[in-house]
Amino acid sequence: MEGLSICAEPSGEHSQASRRKADVQEVIEDPSRRKDEWNDWKWQLKNRLTSLDAIRELIPLTRREEEGIKRATGRLAMAVTPYFFSLIDKNDPKCPIRKQAIPRLEEFSVSSCEMVDPCGEDSHAPVTGLVHRYPDRALLIVTDSCAMYCRYCTRRRMVGEELPPMSIERFKEAIKYLKSKKTIRDVLISGGDPLMMKTELLEYYIKELRAIPHIEIIRLGTRVPVTLPMRVDKELVDMLKKYHPLYMSIHFSHPKEITPEVTAACGMLADAGIPLGSQTVLLKGINDKPSIMKKLMQELLRIRVRPYYLYQCDLAIGTAHFRTPVAVGMNIIEELRGHTTGYAVPTFVVDAPGGGGKIPVSPTYLISQAKGKVTLRNYENKIFYYTEPATVF
Ligand SMILES: *Cc1c(COP(=O)(O)O)cnc(C)c1O
Ligand code: SF4
Repeated sequence: MEGLSICAEPSGEHSQASRRKADVQEVIEDPSRRKDEWNDWKWQLKNRLTSLDAIRELIPLTRREEEGIKRATGRLAMAVTPYFFSLIDKNDPKCPIRKQAIPRLEEFSVSSCEMVDPCGEDSHAPVTGLVHRYPDRALLIVTDSCAMYCRYCTRRRMVGEELPPMSIERFKEAIKYLKSKKTIRDVLISGGDPLMMKTELLEYYIKELRAIPHIEIIRLGTRVPVTLPMRVDKELVDMLKKYHPLYMSIHFSHPKEITPEVTAACGMLADAGIPLGSQTVLLKGINDKPSIMKKLMQELLRIRVRPYYLYQCDLAIGTAHFRTPVAVGMNIIEELRGHTTGYAVPTFVVDAPGGGGKIPVSPTYLISQAKGKVTLRNYENKIFYYTEPATVF
C-alpha cells in the first residue's frame, strides 16, 4: 500500500545512481555548490551514503573502518545523510560524528555480557511493537527506519532493514490494547524514527491515539531533527501542533551536531508549542568528557531543548567499544550539578539489563541521616547540616 511506504526510496538504475553519487560527493565537499535540493529532505534520504565505494571517495578510511563497512550488511546497514556526513572531519579518524556513523571492525566482536534485546523490550510487548513496561505509559515502535544508523543503537536487533512501518492491522491491534488499558495516560511513539514516515501516516497514528480519552499526552522519540533537520518543515510542524499536548525527545550526542540547520528545526518545533527534551547516550571517545557534555547541555538550552536523559550505553551486541564505566556518567553529573544551570543537568540512567526500566544513578549528596539531623554536601564539597522536625511516627 502506497500510504504505508517510508520516505526513503530505493536508488535508481546503476548509471543514474553513479552520476548522482558524483554530484552528492561534490556538494558534500563544497557547500557553495549546494542547490535547493540540499534542503529537500527527500533528496537527502534518496542520496544517503550506503556503500564503501561512496564513502571511500570522500574520506580516507582506516583499515578498521573499511572492514567495518564491508561487514555491516543486513541488519543495521550503514546509511548516512549527505547533511550529517558533511559534519565529518575527514582528516580526523576520532571525529565524533564519524565514530557514530561509520562502522568499525570492533562492532563485530561480541562480549559475553551483551544481549540481542538489552532492555528486555520484546518480553514486555503485549502486541509486537508495543512495549508496556510501566503501568501508566507505553512505547510504540512504529518503524525500523532511521535517517542515519547510529553504530551504538540499542535497538540494532530490529532497525535498518527499512521494512514498511508497523502494518495498519498491527497498529489497530495496538490501539485495541491501549483502549483496553485505562491506566495508560502517556504513549511514546518511537522506532527506528517516527519522523521517517510520511507525514500523513504519522498523522493517522497520532490522530488514532488522540481519540483515546485516557491518553493524556503523546510523545515522539526522534533523532531526525539532528541527522536530517530539513525534515522539520512547515507541513510537519503544522500537523504536529494540532495534537497537543505533544512532547518530543530528540537524540543528541555531541555539540558539533548543533548547527544552524538544527537550531532552525528546533526553533520551529518550539514555536509550535512542542516542549523539547534531549536524550543522549554516554559514548566512549565521543562525549565522555565533562567539558564536552557540559557544552552539549548548554548548547541544547540555547536552542530551546531541555536536557532530559543521559543514558548509560546499553549492553547491545557489538557496542563494547562505545561503553564507559557507570562512574564516568556519575562524574559528569557531579561536574554539572551546581556548576551550571540546573536545567542543563539531565537525569543519568541505566536501563536495567533484561528489562527493569530506567534506573537513575546520581552522585550522593546525602552524607548521613541521623535522628533529626541530615548531613549534606554541596557541589563544592562543603558540609551542611539540616535539622529535621521531630516527627512522631
Ligand atoms: C523509556 C521508556 C518509557 C518512557 O519513560 P520515561 O521515564 O517516562 O521517559 C516508557 N516505556 C518504555 C518501555 C521505555 O523504555
Ligand atoms: S536514531 Fe535511535 S533507533 Fe535509529 S539508529 Fe540511532 S539510536 Fe537507533
